[in-house]
Amino acid sequence: MRYFVTLLFLWMLSTASFALEVIDLERISENLPIGQYVESVRLQRTNDASNDVVLSDEVRNGDFTPGKHDALNFGYTQKRIWLRFEVNNASDQDIERILNVRYPLLDTLRLYNDKSTTPIYTLGRMLAGRNNQAMVVPAPYFIMPLVIKAHSSETYYLSIESDDSIAVPIFLTTLSNLENTAFKYSVGFALYFGLTIANILFAVFMTLLLRERAHLFYSLFVISNSLLFFFVLEGFPNTIFGIDSLFFNRDIIAYIVSTSIAIFSVFGASYLRLKTLAPKAYRLSQVLTGIMLVSLILCFILPYFYAITLSTFAAVLVGTFYGFVAINYLRLGHPGVKSYLLAWGVGVTGSLIYGMKVWNLVPVNLFTSYGWHIGSLFEIAVFSLMMAYRAAQDRKERLDALEQLNKKERDLRQTQEHFLETQIKAKAELELQVKQRTRDLSNILGQLEHENKSLVELSINDALTKIPNRRYFNDIYPQMWSDAIDAQTPISVIMLDVDHFKRINDDYGHLSGDYCLVKLANIMRETVRHPRGVLCRYGGEEFVIALSDTTQEEAYVIAESIRKKIASMIISNDGKTFRVTSSFGIASLVPTSYIAPESLLAKSDAALYQSKNNGRNQVSLANEENCLQTALPQI
Ligand code: GH3
Ligand code: MG
Ligand code: MG
Repeated sequence: MRYFVTLLFLWMLSTASFALEVIDLERISENLPIGQYVESVRLQRTNDASNDVVLSDEVRNGDFTPGKHDALNFGYTQKRIWLRFEVNNASDQDIERILNVRYPLLDTLRLYNDKSTTPIYTLGRMLAGRNNQAMVVPAPYFIMPLVIKAHSSETYYLSIESDDSIAVPIFLTTLSNLENTAFKYSVGFALYFGLTIANILFAVFMTLLLRERAHLFYSLFVISNSLLFFFVLEGFPNTIFGIDSLFFNRDIIAYIVSTSIAIFSVFGASYLRLKTLAPKAYRLSQVLTGIMLVSLILCFILPYFYAITLSTFAAVLVGTFYGFVAINYLRLGHPGVKSYLLAWGVGVTGSLIYGMKVWNLVPVNLFTSYGWHIGSLFEIAVFSLMMAYRAAQDRKERLDALEQLNKKERDLRQTQEHFLETQIKAKAELELQVKQRTRDLSNILGQLEHENKSLVELSINDALTKIPNRRYFNDIYPQMWSDAIDAQTPISVIMLDVDHFKRINDDYGHLSGDYCLVKLANIMRETVRHPRGVLCRYGGEEFVIALSDTTQEEAYVIAESIRKKIASMIISNDGKTFRVTSSFGIASLVPTSYIAPESLLAKSDAALYQSKNNGRNQVSLANEENCLQTALPQI
């Protein structure tokens, strides 16, 4: 690295100094830098109107010093520079050459020959548009055609003044050579501005897409520093757009420098994240931005010479500050600072070389003249790359974060789904269990109901004959009684006793007796299908039939029907066949509340005994007032 820098420096200084001599046109090349043939002197600007500067004897007798090398540089000066050189044409023909000063920042140039006191040519920025190009050749900067007669020599004086730093890269060249140089120059600047505009577009698109402050500041910085600044520096407002105004061709440079460095300061602070990473430096950067803004305001007040000197000085201050910050960042190991330092480094090196040139610290040559342009290009290229890289990094980080978030969300959803699934399963299981339990319960209830029913049936029915038992009768009979009282309808009771049942038991066995009782009960059940009738087994082989809303006569018909059916029935059981008869007693009345229900039963019982006593197998009626008085004849 050190080796490279040394070589560079030596190259910059490589143009050696020569003793002053006359330019012999016969012996020189077609494109000659003539700095070393030129003598120069700085004289006070006379208080004159710009066009009336005359080649006075004071100038002619001035203390001219010979040029040391081809790159003449006078830095910032308020004096007028006078140059003198002599051209000799020893040939037989007149020779046409073009004097070309390849430096844009010159306010006024006046060329005189020895023979006259008024200028042959008056050119310069101050005269922009009027007489800037003495020839219509798209050549860089200032061109002045000269004709040197055969066998003669000519001494020329060139006066130069400028509020900018004065450098005079001066050439004596042929027209074709000038055109060639102009072409190269155009290509070079087309390349420079093309690349710069591409970078600006990139920065602007990035700004629009990402909407980040750093990108906005960067875009503005590139526009002001790399485009506008060089555009004016190269004199393009006049040469390209034909703008005459001195402000747009010169004075605006100071404004652009102050503005672009103020923006650079804000951009640097934003890019290096000074606010969070280095708060002290951030405050200092704000002060520097403020200084740049003050410098911008002063541009409106100060003459150009002071304005440009101030803004250049302030720019160096800001540049140094950010270099210092970046180096400190590098030391602290903050990420992404190397590329910043590289961009800053090349930009600063370029401007430093230019600065050294304008302060007359290094000679003017191609490298020092265009180092700034090259540095600026490299600077924006590295910055653009860096911004793109940073945007890509940010995007990657955002995507990673999004991915992480998605994964978390996915996990959460899975857990949730799993939980829901478990919940649904548990619910289904619970529902199933509830259903089962409900079914079991309803089964049990059904069973219970069934059993209750059987229990009720058991409790009210006689186990052998399956007809209601006496308890049931005792429950229902009082109700029938009171209903009959209410309705004032007759109620009849038929009492039945099997005749000589002991004998059946004795003769055919107890089981046959049981069977016989079942058969008799069936006959009675079938016969008493009366909705108003209640049949029951009253005792061992005794049965009672209570009939509501039934007269004694109607009861008699029923009893007689049963009696006949019994008497005619042949009972067969266990290989034994026999018949039975039965005796009946009937009592009937329309009950009142003064009569006890049992009395009717007693009366029917009495009638039954009557049937027994009268020979059995017959129906007797109770002998009462409300009843039929005599047993009806057998049917
Ligand atoms: P009577 O004509 O005077 O009524 O003569 P009887 O033999 O029927 O006399 P009684 O009414 O006194 O006798 C009833 C008999 O009925 C006595 C008992 O052994 C028999 N008996 C009572 N309940 C049952 C029963 O459930 N099954 C059987 N096989 N016999 C019974
Ligand atoms: Mg009996
Ligand atoms: Mg009996």
